[in-house]
Amino acid sequence: MPKGASFRGALFSFAAAATKTQSLFFVASAMRRQYNARMSKEVDTDKVVRQHLEMEGFFTGYVIRGAKARESAEPLHPESQEKASIPGPSSNAAEELEAIAAEVRRCCKCGLGATRTHGVPGEGSPNARIMFIGEAPGADEDAQGRPFVGRAGQLLDKIIAACGLKREEVYIANILKCRPPDNRDPREDEVFSCLPYLQRQIEVIRPQVIVALGAHAARTLLGTEKSIGQLRGQFQEYSPGLGQPTIRLMATYHPAYILRNYTPDTRRRVWEDMKKVLVELGLPVPDRGKG
Ligand code: SF4
Repeated sequence: MPKGASFRGALFSFAAAATKTQSLFFVASAMRRQYNARMSKEVDTDKVVRQHLEMEGFFTGYVIRGAKARESAEPLHPESQEKASIPGPSSNAAEELEAIAAEVRRCCKCGLGATRTHGVPGEGSPNARIMFIGEAPGADEDAQGRPFVGRAGQLLDKIIAACGLKREEVYIANILKCRPPDNRDPREDEVFSCLPYLQRQIEVIRPQVIVALGAHAARTLLGTEKSIGQLRGQFQEYSPGLGQPTIRLMATYHPAYILRNYTPDTRRRVWEDMKKVLVELGLPVPDRGKG
């Protein structure tokens, strides 16, 4: 095993163990979440049925056909009814996420706390079925305190829209919550310090699918040194910790990479990945993406 892989695996395991104490805290709230989720089952079902199918453009303008028929239809996939009934987080999740965000904003556990303008905890729905996870904030994100708001973020918005979703329906976060100077790669000690925040966010939201944007996010979450080419295109399993069910993880290219390599082939690969995510969630796949 490569030296880096061993260290990354150990780092990930240690960080996961470090969140166990916090997990105890979440046991009680998890029970409340399950109760509340049962009470709000119909809301989740509605969410599946009323998918937002208007898509103005995906990279170069894909068009959904037959969207109108789907708007009033039952879920296209029988399993979507079942998945929609999986208990999700309650409104308490929003409070827990805000508590984590508040910790991030005052955090100085690594050196990036001294160089950032704003911490960037993440944002989106506490009930998100999909979490998009990138590497670290850039200059725009550092300035605004929000994830994926620069050019790469605008492209991510288009990808989300192409999936028939809205940005506020998913959750977007990064491995690191503060910007590394000059957008350098995150250091292992920084990831070690920061990863527990993301792990707690995942534990609170409990998404059905994680989309890891780029090699760094995918490698960190999976504890591997494999390339993004090896990881993307097929589901991997993210392990939240001992005794907890794994979460399906799809790795794909980071929007910044897509912008640097804006070829039909790159865009097609990303769309292939996202189609698999939609199928996994039992959501309609836009016509253009079925080929
Ligand atoms: S990067 Fe993470 S660990 Fe480091 S100061 Fe920011 S929030 Fe804290």
